[in-house]
Amino acid sequence: MTAQLIDGVALARHWRQRVAERAAALAARGHRPGLAVILVGDDPASQVYVRNKVKACGEAGIHSLLETYPATLTEDELLARIAALNADPAIHGILVQLPLPAHLNAQRVIEAIAPEKDVDGFHVANAGALLVGQPAFRPCTPYGCMKMLEHIGRTDLRGQHAIVVGRSNIVGKPMALLLLQAGATVTICHSGTADLAHHTRQADVLVAAVGKPRMIGADMVKPGAVVLDVGINRLPDGKLCGDVDFDAVREVAGWITPVPGGVGPMTIAMLLLNTVEAAQRTVGRPPSAVGASATVRP
Ligand code: NDP
Repeated sequence: MTAQLIDGVALARHWRQRVAERAAALAARGHRPGLAVILVGDDPASQVYVRNKVKACGEAGIHSLLETYPATLTEDELLARIAALNADPAIHGILVQLPLPAHLNAQRVIEAIAPEKDVDGFHVANAGALLVGQPAFRPCTPYGCMKMLEHIGRTDLRGQHAIVVGRSNIVGKPMALLLLQAGATVTICHSGTADLAHHTRQADVLVAAVGKPRMIGADMVKPGAVVLDVGINRLPDGKLCGDVDFDAVREVAGWITPVPGGVGPMTIAMLLLNTVEAAQRTVGRPPSAVGASATVRP
């Protein structure tokens, strides 16, 4: 069997177009959506991510404000900037690029963002809302994964076993909660899991979010499974690869996402979607849309 490819670039283009339409409609009413992106320090990968996010905003008609600060920025200074952005009516979403330099407490910084502007969905209020099944902003990477499942017709996951490898607050845990909400029976694996392959081989839907190049081999995958590879790893030759051994696993899986060109582009598209949704919430919906679910449930 050769797996069908889930093309994250094409699907992200589709969602970015839909975001652009909503942004244009809001702008026509005098409410152009705005996203503030804060980068502290000079981590090269973060610089690329931030540049891509700002560029994507421009293409979707979203106003973006990029603030870059040296790694010497103090926590008080950063919190003061966030407070100012919380109060700025032209800004509907605030994103602080992670990781932050070690002297800054990431959780304290995230908690300083007004929950209604927390378009990353990392604030404890948004994490709690997701936990109780009433998500306000879904974290962008898991949200993108759910959109990919929706795209291939896997919306109702009742009777399916989903395995998430990785339990971070930004990917693994929210991913597991969204899969649970979609009806899947969910197992979360992590570095303390014994016999990882025993678990992954049971997965109808397998999400790898670890950060270890090609650690998921073909012998760890159930034939026909949907494999979503969140990992982004840079190899010594400079090329990117995922957590899944793509060439081997595509011979076993039913569906698979590539790296690059899979989950990554969808993450950015979902950031834009959350931003336009945040803007929409501040101004209300046009009469024709009242009652419609603009939150776009997975
Ligand atoms: P973290 O480092 O925060 O989490 C990694 C997780 O993997 C941890 O829960 C860890 O377990 C687990 N883990 C580590 N080693 C093993 C192992 N041998 N077996 C099983 N589990 C293991 O990473 P993130 O969640 O932030 O990111 C994961 C990957 O996804 C990275 O490659 C990152 O670059 C990528 N990423 C991609 C995005 C995209 O848009 N495509 C967005 C965000 C991240 P434990 O908790 O026990 O330590």
